[in-house]
Amino acid sequence: MTTETRTSIVWDYAPAPESADHIRLKDRYGLFIDGDFKDPADGGYVPTINPATEEPIAEVAYGGPVDVTAAVQSARAAHPRWAALKDLERAKYLFRIARLIQERARELAVVETIDGGKPLRESRDVDVPLAAAHFFYYAGWADKLRYGTGASEVRPLGVVGQIVPWNFPLLMAAWKLAPALACGNVAILKPAETTPLTALLLAEICQEAELPPGVVTILPGDESTGASLVRAPGIDKIAFTGSTAVGRDIQAALAGTNTHLTLELGGKSANIVFEDAALDQAVEGIVNGIFFNQGHVCCAGSRLLIQESVRDEVIAKLWQRMGRLRVGDPLDKNTDVGAINSAEQLSRIEALVAAGEDEGATRRSVECELPARGYWFAPTLFTDVSPAHRIAVEEIFGPVVSVLTFRTQAEAIEKANNSRYGLAAGIWTDKGSKAFQVASALKAGVVWQNTYNHFDPTAAFGGYKESGFGREGGPAGLRPYLQVVR
Ligand code: NDP
Repeated sequence: MTTETRTSIVWDYAPAPESADHIRLKDRYGLFIDGDFKDPADGGYVPTINPATEEPIAEVAYGGPVDVTAAVQSARAAHPRWAALKDLERAKYLFRIARLIQERARELAVVETIDGGKPLRESRDVDVPLAAAHFFYYAGWADKLRYGTGASEVRPLGVVGQIVPWNFPLLMAAWKLAPALACGNVAILKPAETTPLTALLLAEICQEAELPPGVVTILPGDESTGASLVRAPGIDKIAFTGSTAVGRDIQAALAGTNTHLTLELGGKSANIVFEDAALDQAVEGIVNGIFFNQGHVCCAGSRLLIQESVRDEVIAKLWQRMGRLRVGDPLDKNTDVGAINSAEQLSRIEALVAAGEDEGATRRSVECELPARGYWFAPTLFTDVSPAHRIAVEEIFGPVVSVLTFRTQAEAIEKANNSRYGLAAGIWTDKGSKAFQVASALKAGVVWQNTYNHFDPTAAFGGYKESGFGREGGPAGLRPYLQVVR
């Protein structure tokens, strides 16, 4: 491993920690069933940990199989009245939730950061505003469902189980709940084990919005809670975001049943830089593509494809820019790269990075002072990567970018598509025609041109191949929550 020091220009920032004094977390959170927080019947309580300090934050209930059954019963009982509400009345609840998220934005951002490790700048400027935007957006669709689907008559599916990962806890909850509720479904959401808190604050928001009991259930727990929810009788649809391995397990469990399913799984997305691109902008896009949220992003631009003629220049600029990333306290407003979400995820990243070195790729990790406690991984760049190396094939889900090169446009397309995944891609070029040609040839659900990791509730998101199926966001995000009658 080669370690290089930072560039000679070192900006000395004063610490700028966001205050957490305004946070009013309880010591203990139960399961949110039937409009109230309840002790688990057959689960227990487990502390959720701040990954930047390893300190416990609060105790959170884990739902067992009896709790899952109770959640489904409450949701089933709530469904007929919710589905029968006038569309505009349903929309009003969603608008209220959106506004309450905005009102509690500062609190939600801080809690997201202490529970998950992501920089406050991101939870404050991306996660929380986008979560509110999803509720606003789908509130607008609630009385226009036929137009959104092009059908004459549509019906909700019923009770939907929604399982979300730890990388965008509140945003994924909003991403799943808003369209489901707008379409007249009721939902049971299972947050990830390591990041349940903002979903539980969202439960409080549902209470404040006077959402009828049972319309939203928040069922924290571990993987067995998720597995029970998937298999529970009385569930009409499962929407899952997470790893391909678990997605596969869920698909096998639901094969031959009438339960609808959408899967948003992993990725190994190609970020393609052509020689005619504005290279300084491309470097910003590469950084945003892979170091945003510590690389814990399903669509992260983790495979960087650079045209050979500009390879050295791009790598030199990128390495210089990486040296200026500020890694550390996620609550500091200047931090670019925060803590790795869990000890388990840190060891997965370390194992794949070790495999990259063993297989002969050249590793460069930014030299930076990492806090003594907590889970951290320095931004890392791999060159001399072959397309068969594990670091070019597998999702690392950390701040690690693997560089490959290409000579022609055709080779770029071939290499970008040479993946079992197909979630996203980025294209950096000055030529609009080239961008459209390449985008049309890429087998990826989302293709960004001269930008990366740009999210919007009006745009559909989803994958091909092992990245899953079904679309979330935009009008396309309504369809998986509706039956078309005619
Ligand atoms: P998982 O896919 O295991 O977790 C995602 C969600 O599914 C969590 O709520 C989890 O619960 C739940 N879950 C786990 N097992 C089951 C099951 N058998 N049935 C139903 N639900 C289940 O992701 P991990 O957190 O373990 O991360 C592993 C790897 O997956 C990462 O390293 C990364 O590569 C990838 N990943 C990809 C994501 C993406 O958006 N593409 C998101 C997260 C991870 P619990 O947290 O309680 O285990």
